[in-house]
Amino acid sequence: FWDYLTEKLKKSLTSVSYTTWVGSAKPLYIKGNDIHITVPTELHKDYWERHYAEDIAIYSYEFNGIELNPIIETEDEHAKGEMPKKEAPKETETTQKNEGHVFHNSHLNPKYTFDSFITGSGNQMAHAAALAVAEEPGVIYNPLFIYGGVGLGKTHLMQAIGHQMIKIDPGAKVKYVTSETFANDFINSIQTRTQDDFRQEYRNVDLLLIDDIQFFAEKEGTQEEFFHTFNELHDNGKQIVMTSDRLPNEIPKLQERLVSRFKWGLSVDITAPDLETRIAILRNKAEAEKLEIPNDTLSYIAEQVDTNVRELEGALIRVQAYSTLENADITKSVAADALKLFKLSKEKKGLSIANIQNKVAKYYHVSINDLKGKKRVKTIVVPRQIAMYLSRELTEKSLPQIGMEFGGKDHTTVMHSCDKIAELVIKDDEIKMAVNELKDELRN
Ligand code: ADP
Ligand code: MG
Repeated sequence: FWDYLTEKLKKSLTSVSYTTWVGSAKPLYIKGNDIHITVPTELHKDYWERHYAEDIAIYSYEFNGIELNPIIETEDEHAKGEMPKKEAPKETETTQKNEGHVFHNSHLNPKYTFDSFITGSGNQMAHAAALAVAEEPGVIYNPLFIYGGVGLGKTHLMQAIGHQMIKIDPGAKVKYVTSETFANDFINSIQTRTQDDFRQEYRNVDLLLIDDIQFFAEKEGTQEEFFHTFNELHDNGKQIVMTSDRLPNEIPKLQERLVSRFKWGLSVDITAPDLETRIAILRNKAEAEKLEIPNDTLSYIAEQVDTNVRELEGALIRVQAYSTLENADITKSVAADALKLFKLSKEKKGLSIANIQNKVAKYYHVSINDLKGKKRVKTIVVPRQIAMYLSRELTEKSLPQIGMEFGGKDHTTVMHSCDKIAELVIKDDEIKMAVNELKDELRN
């Protein structure tokens, strides 16, 4: 019967939906009229109960004249031998259709889709929630709040919701912004007296994606405006998705009324990927880039970098660049050489950013103020980027924290500086020497 059922479901679902919901479920046994099934997370269970209970009854009747009733357990529940609680399925409303005029769904990175997102233990729940929201926006988990550390795929997953929703309904209006853009747009609209346009733009969407909401902290006026945006969208059954590096109640200076609203829906976290997932991510990435990398080398790289996916991708780029320069195929030993620098940097010592700024300033004969300032001349930009890079590599400070210590720069500026130097270290001997010398000095 299971094969019969899955064949039927396959025909009516997109491939992502099929793999996520059906492919991850395992039939256990049939006892009486009950079919026992396990699924990976609570979310999958919720989804099965709401969507497939009826299909199971219909198709089992079709199959052999018996109406089966599904008993869904998560794998954990099953392992613990708990009996699942049976909950009444929630009523689902049909989503409203919009007027269908063309809306520019810009600002979505075409690479950030569900197809290119690899699932594993650290993100399975967040992934399932995101897909459920894309399929039924505004109905179940509203708002959806995705939180977790840097580089773990929050932005990717959030944008995948946007892509998927447009795929399902090409007329859907999707808006993606970072919380900083929201704040800036709002402030501009006050200055230029175009608040009506601002509201039109943000309140007339089917899906609003606000990335890195922790940067709303301290911005009173923006929070006030967002409160109203949120209410209007939520009241109209429009979907809101937010990401943050922490839970709503852990965001300093976030108004209580926002915190409580953010908890109306569902909060899911993303944690660092395990080794298997890291290998799968690398394999996928290598295929996309048409790189020939043997399996043992992929595993090696995945073992070396266990922090987050962004660093994992960075490691692959380092290895790729190194092999191009050396004119060698990517093998384990080439990867080892390429990652040597990177690995050394992981023995983070009790260094402060001030220590690093001091050393770099002396080394390049520039002032600390210049390192923290905004001058764009190359003689200062390069030392500044090196100092940021070393701060990232040699301390435990986060990107925003580093930005703060460099005169209040944005975390994306710090990120780009670090990427830039990581690239130059491979390509430019002078920079490589400077970075190595500075590292040696700082380690002592
Ligand atoms: P965050 O927003 O949490 O800081 P991002 O969404 O920017 O992280 O992800 C960092 C990089 O890692 C992106 O290039 C993204 O495509 C990639 N990435 C993260 N998680 C995954 C995953 N599960 N599968 C494939 N790529 C991933
Ligand atoms: Mg992000």
